[in-house]
Amino acid sequence: MPTDNEFTKILAWPGYRVYQHEIDENAKTLKLWIRRKGGNRKIECSGCGRKFSDIYDTSERAVRDLPWSAFTATVMVEVYRVNCPDCGVKREKVPLLPSKAPFSQRFEEAVGLACEMASARQVARHFKLPASTVRAIDLRYLERWNKSRRKPALRQMGVDEIYLGKKQKFLSVVCNLETGEPLWFGRERKKETLDGFFQTELSAKQRRGIQAACVDMWEPYRLSIEQWAPQCQIIYDKFHIMQHANAAIDEVRRAEFFRKGGALRDLVKGKRWLLLSRWVNLDTGKKRQLNQLFALNRRVMKAYLLKESLDRLWTYHYEGAMLRYLQSWIDQLRWQRLRPFEKLAQLLLDHLEGILNYCRTKVPMGVVEAVNGNIKSLLRRGRGYKNLRYLLLKAQRMAVTKTEFVAFKKAA
Ligand SMILES: [Zn+2]
Repeated sequence: MPTDNEFTKILAWPGYRVYQHEIDENAKTLKLWIRRKGGNRKIECSGCGRKFSDIYDTSERAVRDLPWSAFTATVMVEVYRVNCPDCGVKREKVPLLPSKAPFSQRFEEAVGLACEMASARQVARHFKLPASTVRAIDLRYLERWNKSRRKPALRQMGVDEIYLGKKQKFLSVVCNLETGEPLWFGRERKKETLDGFFQTELSAKQRRGIQAACVDMWEPYRLSIEQWAPQCQIIYDKFHIMQHANAAIDEVRRAEFFRKGGALRDLVKGKRWLLLSRWVNLDTGKKRQLNQLFALNRRVMKAYLLKESLDRLWTYHYEGAMLRYLQSWIDQLRWQRLRPFEKLAQLLLDHLEGILNYCRTKVPMGVVEAVNGNIKSLLRRGRGYKNLRYLLLKAQRMAVTKTEFVAFKKAA
């Protein structure tokens, strides 16, 4: 049987020694009682950090620590309270006990790390903890990480919305385009929503530091940016505009095939995503399916070609050339009677400056889309993201560690 001295070495809690132990071989549990070593008697007030050598009282806290082989380890820590002139009777600060929860810091770290690779439910099963406890540990782990890291300056921002469903509606998402990291979530997508970001998250100096913003052609966002960061160039990027183009082709598809009943409708069924896919991303079989669809309806084909050709707008680097291409694209709409595309053309003309700004200020493309995709994949896997703060930290950690950026691939 190892001695307490040997247990102290293996446990390796800096400044603490084991003075009693208990092993239950049937239950596979190990219990270790620890207290401060002789040279570690300066006790810190957890309220203000002032140091004391006198103890007010002593108690014992049981915390779960990393397992020892097949044994679950519980550490019984002797903790003190001090009588602080500023804070009153207060608990001492123990770095290895990060919160009031019954877990050691390194145990929480192990759980948090596991949560980066698996769902909370899977982690819960592995550690034999309730899923809600695992989420709470993970949240604390992420908060600690967030507090200790340097945050890069915001020079290029992205703003987008995510649709959460009928009940919760929209979530506004602000991200840093240079780091690909989400910065902030706000409920709804009003001007006041984004105002909230500028007001609470940034100083006046930080607001002046923003050079460019990639946003959807959504008026409330534009108004908010113009108010809070008037120097910032607004850019309507490809991702957002192509979202509108996809919505337009979807509208054409529905209008063309809805009235048609029976066999034709069955043929069209499930072809929606085909129409939303880029031609280059389709295999031969899918291309054939799409061609069959086009043979049935020339207007759907025309709409598809319009969507595909709009995509080329962003291959131009000079304003004049980009403008000419857009003009020729709009000219193709004449006599087509494709109402959704006429509306799209008007939308583009109304937002021309912001589209051409793409040629003036270079912003990385696809970042907003990637950030969006990561958040959606978290939402799909996660459940239990009623806590937006948790969702945000999770998405930030994901962006910084680049966990999911590779996995995310979707045809635009
Ligand atoms: Zn104090």
